[in-house]
Amino acid sequence: MAQSWFTIKNKVYVNWEEEDTLLLYDTENGKHLSSHLSKAIDLAKAVYSPENLGVVDWGAVELDDEIRGFIKNVCENKMGVLIDKEQYQQKPINFLPILNLQNDVERMSDIGDLVMTGENISTYLTHAVIHLSTECDKHCPHCGLFHKQTLCCSAMEQPSAMPFEQLRELIVQLAATSVQVIDLVGGDLRTYPHLSQLNTLIDQYQQFNWHLWQHIINEKGLSLDHVKTEVILTAPFEKTMLPEALQHDSDVRFHLLVENESQVEQAERMVAGIEAERCEWVPIFNGENLKFFEDNVLLSEEDILSAPISMREIFCRQKLNTNYFGKLHFFADGTVKADVNKEAIGRFPEKRVLGLVYDELTRNTAWRRIRGGERCSVCRYRFLCPSPGNYETVIGKENLCKVDLKSTNTEADDT
Ligand code: SF4
Repeated sequence: MAQSWFTIKNKVYVNWEEEDTLLLYDTENGKHLSSHLSKAIDLAKAVYSPENLGVVDWGAVELDDEIRGFIKNVCENKMGVLIDKEQYQQKPINFLPILNLQNDVERMSDIGDLVMTGENISTYLTHAVIHLSTECDKHCPHCGLFHKQTLCCSAMEQPSAMPFEQLRELIVQLAATSVQVIDLVGGDLRTYPHLSQLNTLIDQYQQFNWHLWQHIINEKGLSLDHVKTEVILTAPFEKTMLPEALQHDSDVRFHLLVENESQVEQAERMVAGIEAERCEWVPIFNGENLKFFEDNVLLSEEDILSAPISMREIFCRQKLNTNYFGKLHFFADGTVKADVNKEAIGRFPEKRVLGLVYDELTRNTAWRRIRGGERCSVCRYRFLCPSPGNYETVIGKENLCKVDLKSTNTEADDT
């Protein structure tokens, strides 16, 4: 054994950001090993040290029973290998998966504005949310709260509607980007003053996947051609709320915004008989239901590790926020945001869409927000965990998890 080379397999993600803890995570099957052994951490760091090119001389490692046991465990779990020196006298090379910085935004902005213009950045924008109007007379108790957590309607005291010329210009500019999905939201969109022109515009730009978001109480009577209907449902949930035509239309999806277990039960009764894949369940934080979130939303280690996460996804989470990246919200008053809960990045049409994309890429109000807070940045699951989103902002907590940072109480644990 001493006459061997040791390496960690390319499919294994390695993290030692948590103090005194090493995590090895197999991206193909989700198996994981963790260890508090300082020698194990040093060994992993040595494998990743650039001068070692992914392979260390096992003979140079100070061996004791603990480190032998660790390596045995790593090899038995097919996360690492010992290579016999007699067969490979010359030190092999293992190209470990290291984040490719070639197209990294920070690097691009270092190079200069030239590379951040035109075609280069138009590809980053893939999704637009257009808030057409803020008029609605229903005065729902949740108005102003729910849309901060999920796509939902909202109204304002002083209603406004996006002028049609502004909307047309926006669509023209979006057509020159990589936008595929356009969500239309508002207050009561039946009151949008330019509905017939909107219909014509949608007809002209059928390359987009158009979605229209309406609360069920404002749903009746509004239909646009070539547009998928997204129906928002909030408590109280009653079967009579759902017209038969919607229930049987496979193009219609339902978004059930729930605040507690009893609402979940009511909503389940309401959508009984409707295909599960047409129903999205969205927990809503109302300031008083933290327990509901602890039971249903906060992630445990088992939740985080429940399904394999690819190396590509892990690398994405190291550089991008997968909830926000590529998406911009265009509001009726001209404000543009990447995160509805954060500051505006600019105004449209005063600034062109590509200019706004550039501003978000360089200012980073949301697109590149990663788990970088005090707690998450020293957690071994930092990049296995989903990117932070609206819940963290609304609840005011950087981590929505139940992970005990010092525990290694995991299935394939090694300590
Ligand atoms: S939310 Fe933060 S602390 Fe919790 S598991 Fe994820 S990265 Fe770790």
